[in-house]
Amino acid sequence: MEDCLFCKIAAGEIPSKKLYEDDQVVAFYDIAPQAKVHFLVIPKKHISSAAALTEADGALLGHVFAVIAKLAKEQGLDNGYRVISNVGEDAGQTVKHLHFHVLGGEKLPV
Ligand code: AMP
Ligand code: ZN
Repeated sequence: MEDCLFCKIAAGEIPSKKLYEDDQVVAFYDIAPQAKVHFLVIPKKHISSAAALTEADGALLGHVFAVIAKLAKEQGLDNGYRVISNVGEDAGQTVKHLHFHVLGGEKLPV
């Protein structure tokens, strides 16, 4: 999608510190980390938020969470981590392309 920051990151048009990439997803470090470890996992396909997901996205979502589990292990988040996806204004979603924050590496505030 034109003028979408995360579509541009997925396409490599805007640089990012990537941890992982395959044909369906990209993972990269958040530019403004909120925890010792903070990365984002996004589908390459433009989906505006979790509110736009349908049953047809089930396999993609399963893949996203399998990638998150693999990366969390690689990052040493054995003591736990948090996965967050903000949806819309009230949640503070600033980038309108579905993304999953993965936060960890320390005790997170409740
Ligand atoms: P949200 O507020 O849930 O929409 O999250 C958007 C996240 O994207 C924020 O945590 C930002 O710090 C992060 N972000 C914005 N621009 C970039 C970028 N160019 N590279 C990496 N992370 C970014
Ligand atoms: Zn997009």
